[in-house]
Amino acid sequence: MKGIKMVDLKGQYLRIKNEIDAAIQDVLLGTDFIQGAQVKRFAEHLSVYHQGAHVIPCGNGTDALQIAMMALELKPGDEVILPVHTYVATAEVIALLGLTPVFTEVNEETFNIDPHLIKEKITAKTKAIVPVHLYGQCAEMTPIIKMAKEYNLFVIEDLAQAIGAQYTFPTGESKKAGTLGHVGCTSFFPSKNLGAYGDGGAMITTDQALADKMQMICNHGQRIKYHHDIIGVNSRLDTLQAAILNVKLKYLDDYTKRRNKVAGFYDTQLKDVPFIKTPARAPYSTHAFHQYTLRTDGIDRDHFKKYLEEKGVPTMIYYPVPLHLQKAYQRPGFGEGSFPVTEKLSKTVISLPIHTEMSEDELLYICHSIKNYHG
Ligand SMILES: *Cc1c(COP(=O)(O)O)cnc(C)c1O
Repeated sequence: MKGIKMVDLKGQYLRIKNEIDAAIQDVLLGTDFIQGAQVKRFAEHLSVYHQGAHVIPCGNGTDALQIAMMALELKPGDEVILPVHTYVATAEVIALLGLTPVFTEVNEETFNIDPHLIKEKITAKTKAIVPVHLYGQCAEMTPIIKMAKEYNLFVIEDLAQAIGAQYTFPTGESKKAGTLGHVGCTSFFPSKNLGAYGDGGAMITTDQALADKMQMICNHGQRIKYHHDIIGVNSRLDTLQAAILNVKLKYLDDYTKRRNKVAGFYDTQLKDVPFIKTPARAPYSTHAFHQYTLRTDGIDRDHFKKYLEEKGVPTMIYYPVPLHLQKAYQRPGFGEGSFPVTEKLSKTVISLPIHTEMSEDELLYICHSIKNYHG
């Protein structure tokens, strides 16, 4: 079968082409390319989507993390706890601000930071925990929030892969990813669940003062033009991207449903394949299925990947090299063997195509190809 894609941005665009084209045309004719009305409108709509939490759009998801950490006044030497199995952006901004990234092992089933291993990482210098809701499912937030309260730490959620995921506390209270900690940081990179047609990101918080501060930092630390109260950056969401996102936000829940349908199909078809483990569903979170990530068991993952490629089935490895083994993030005392779960995952995970436009024929073909693999 030809033409199976990891993501199908063109197919997704074509279904809403008229609306998108009109929104773009509107911006072109309005020429408010920076800080246009569409940016404010998008922030308001995304705020409604997050039960009224403040939303501050910015240039990209990496900047969102950086601006959040700047606004929380984290200082050089402060330690920030994060999962070692994540995208580099999470660690990058920590290091860039002179803070110390403190890598923590993840749970093999959920791929997310293991809350039981956080406590031993906390020192007098620890200021924040950054749980990443990897592949679209929330990290186990209840013990993380409890620990953060006990040790007076900030919780900065990285929800770049999990926008729309819903977390349920033991009390039965349910909240969206991004509103669980002090601040949530997300990305509108084109292939993310809510993707722009370029870079984009946002911070989400229920704290008004923090929202004001992040808004200032995004725009050179100014509230009034040419009056700079704090040191900021230039990180704004383009009006064009905001106009596109305004259209796409209406479809986000439908997109999530479509992703879940694909995941459900894979679950059913692949659950009895002996050499793979389908992704675990945590009882406390819905899954936004940014990625559908299998763990291989007892086979050569890279050989399996190559076999699928030859069958016309693209796959991706998120992530092939753990952060503590990356040249830029090596730390004294850490090396091969320091994080065995993450190291194992880097050798065994494989993500299948999942997007909003997949056909049943494609899914059947992919599953058939997987079942026919013989090592
Ligand atoms: C995509 C992503 C980011 C960074 O977002 P950008 O918009 O690409 O800067 C950060 N964290 C995670 C987990 C991501 O997947």
